[in-house]
Amino acid sequence: MVREDEIRAAERAVEWPEPVDAGLVFIGRIRTPWTSRLLCPRQGRLDGPVCRLEIDAPWRVALAGVELYERLEVLYWLHRSRRDLVLQSPRNDGEVRGTFSLRSPVRPNPIGTAIVARVGQEEDGVLLVRGLDCLDGTPLLDIKPDRALFVPLAPPQPGDAQTG
Ligand code: SAM
Repeated sequence: MVREDEIRAAERAVEWPEPVDAGLVFIGRIRTPWTSRLLCPRQGRLDGPVCRLEIDAPWRVALAGVELYERLEVLYWLHRSRRDLVLQSPRNDGEVRGTFSLRSPVRPNPIGTAIVARVGQEEDGVLLVRGLDCLDGTPLLDIKPDRALFVPLAPPQPGDAQTG
C-alpha cells in the first residue's frame, strides 16, 4: 500500500531531483491521537477529536488575533510521505490518477491543509482545534484565518477589481 510506501500496480515514481531548499521553517508540531498513518482519518472533520497545535516560542506572538476567527486553515508537513509518485492508485485496483488530481499525502512537497475549528487556547502557545487528520508529531508549517471568514485589513488594490 502506498500509505506504507509500497508502489501499487500501474503507479509511477519519478527519479527524485536534486532538492532546492525553499527555506521552510517548522513553527511547531501537531499533537493528535493518531500514531499510525493507517489509523488517521483520510480527511479531518470539524467534529473530530481535539488536537493541539504546539507553537514554538519565537512564533507565539504571531497568534495575536486568531481568537477573532472560529475557523482556521492549518498547513502541515506530512513528513512520513514518500514524495516521488506521479501516478497513484488510491483504490489499489490498477486505475491511476495524477498526483495533482488527488489529496493524497504522497506528493513532491507533502503539504497538508485542513480547515479546523478553534476550540481553545492554552498558555505557552498551544491552540486547541478540531478537524485534523495527521500523525502525532507532524511538523506545523503555518496557520491562517479560514479564507471564507477573512476580510482583508489592507486597502484594496487595483488587481482586486472584478473584470469581465
Ligand atoms: N487534509 C490534508 C489535505 O487534504 O491536504 C491531508 C489529507 S491526507 C489524505 C491525510 C492522510 O495522510 C492520513 O489519513 C494519513 O494516512 C496520512 N498522514 C497523516 N499524517 C501524516 C504524516 N505526518 N506523514 C505522512 N502521512 C501522513
